[in-house]
Amino acid sequence: MKTYNVESFNLDHTKVQAPFVRLAGVKEGTADTIYKYDIRFIQPNEGLMPMRAVHSLEHLIAENSRNHSEDIVDISPMGCQTGFYWTMLNDGNYERMLDLVEATLRDAMNAEELPAQNPVQCGNANHHDFEGAKKLAADMLAKRDEWHIVFKDEA
Ligand SMILES: [Zn+2]
Repeated sequence: MKTYNVESFNLDHTKVQAPFVRLAGVKEGTADTIYKYDIRFIQPNEGLMPMRAVHSLEHLIAENSRNHSEDIVDISPMGCQTGFYWTMLNDGNYERMLDLVEATLRDAMNAEELPAQNPVQCGNANHHDFEGAKKLAADMLAKRDEWHIVFKDEA
């Protein structure tokens, strides 16, 4: 297979076992280090998260994660709709990352309203599925004890 610039293009997506949380990249600056995680909700090439639910989950994760950590740089959905990239500043502690994802998804699952669902604060305010997002969070949380297993042959 051709090798690419992008780390995840060089990951064999047929060998992973979702859901999982995987450190996908580390970038060292002069004083800071950026850690990029692959938060995979759905088994690649076997399913996807519906786009409206992804959008609502993005809002929920973006807002609630920042109640638990000051070190979040960015959290963005993958175009393949099977997960999110989650980037952290100076925090490469994997167990703490698992706890942060768990706390954030618990907030999402239990949310009573969807943050910023209006045309002033969102670029596609009608394109949401709040209940669908809560279900995605709940399904991911149900497998919390499997998140550290990334590859099928580790299972
Ligand atoms: Zn939005």
